[in-house]
Amino acid sequence: MILMNDFKAEPQELRDDMLSAVSRVFESGWYVLGNEVEQFEKGWAKVCSVKHAIGVANGMDALEIILRAMEVGPGDEVITTSMTAFATVLAILRSGATPVLADIDPDTGLLSLESVVRCLSCKTKAVVLVHLYGQVRDIKAWQSFCEDKKVHLVEDCAQAHLASSDGRMAGSFGVGGAYSFYPTKNLGAIGDGGAIVTDSDEVAFKAKRLRNYGQSERYHHPEIGMNSRLDEVQAAMLQVRLNWLYEFTNRRQQIAKNYIKNLENELIRKLSEPQEFTTHSYHLFVINCEKRDALQKHLESFGIQSHYHYPMPIHFQDPCKNILRDPHGLPAIEQHAKTCLSLPCHPQMTDEDVNAVIEAVNQFKG
Ligand SMILES: *Cc1c(COP(=O)(O)O)cnc(C)c1O
Repeated sequence: MILMNDFKAEPQELRDDMLSAVSRVFESGWYVLGNEVEQFEKGWAKVCSVKHAIGVANGMDALEIILRAMEVGPGDEVITTSMTAFATVLAILRSGATPVLADIDPDTGLLSLESVVRCLSCKTKAVVLVHLYGQVRDIKAWQSFCEDKKVHLVEDCAQAHLASSDGRMAGSFGVGGAYSFYPTKNLGAIGDGGAIVTDSDEVAFKAKRLRNYGQSERYHHPEIGMNSRLDEVQAAMLQVRLNWLYEFTNRRQQIAKNYIKNLENELIRKLSEPQEFTTHSYHLFVINCEKRDALQKHLESFGIQSHYHYPMPIHFQDPCKNILRDPHGLPAIEQHAKTCLSLPCHPQMTDEDVNAVIEAVNQFKG
């Protein structure tokens, strides 16, 4: 079976290093917010070329904390996409702000600037730009738009580890970037984890307080925070796995290149290729197909797993049916939700696996 993720197939050396890191933590006798977290934060800030990385419990909290650190909350509107993980919108709701959903560019699956313009109001305080599937695109346009309109640019980098534009990493373009280290992400822990990256001393200061009950010093709580701490085992796992991230990302990019070159079937449509000056992290390799349910069954018969990201946009979810949105509606998202299919694209795939996927897709007759 060619799976969407295959952790059991990871190199023995990586598995050994992870086990010895677990015992290092165990022997240290210190389990939450300690030396391992600090070491990982330093390392991750360096990778992202930002001043600060703040470890938190998960990617959703990272987004909520950035918004709260910017004092975005009740009465404020935050624009984002409806074609994303539920966590993106849930984080906005949890901050107390009102999400407003904009449409995507059908050629990339990424937030459409034209649609965001239609969503603007005098209450708009931030745009959460999701680097969906692992792609930073048109970032200069987003930066100047947000500067112009005086709204904060917040980056959802949960799928964009090592994704860059002009040599700068995802998360370094706005006021803050939210990373997730959920196991299936490109850099994943063996449980939940997340981080905020930022160049702002103020955001970093507030984020550190908010993640730990709003505590300034022991037993002093000048604000209402949350419990969103990263634990030492996860931070130790992340340090080990970070050593492999470049190699694993290269492999994802190779596989994607191979798909782009060799997938050939008039029943499928490939998304636009990434811009030349950017690096796509290929968290997911997504195609569109009008008959994608049939294509998924066809692939399954060849022992190939595939998923939909995402079959149900946020505005179709029960608690979100009345959520504010682009006055023109979200037609590109609704079409994408019906036709998107993610092919396996993970670093443990062999060349034979990749060829098997290509052949199976190319043989699909509808
Ligand atoms: C995974 C993901 C999140 C949430 O991260 P968690 O660590 O699961 O909370 C947010 N946004 C996007 C785009 C994601 O893929």
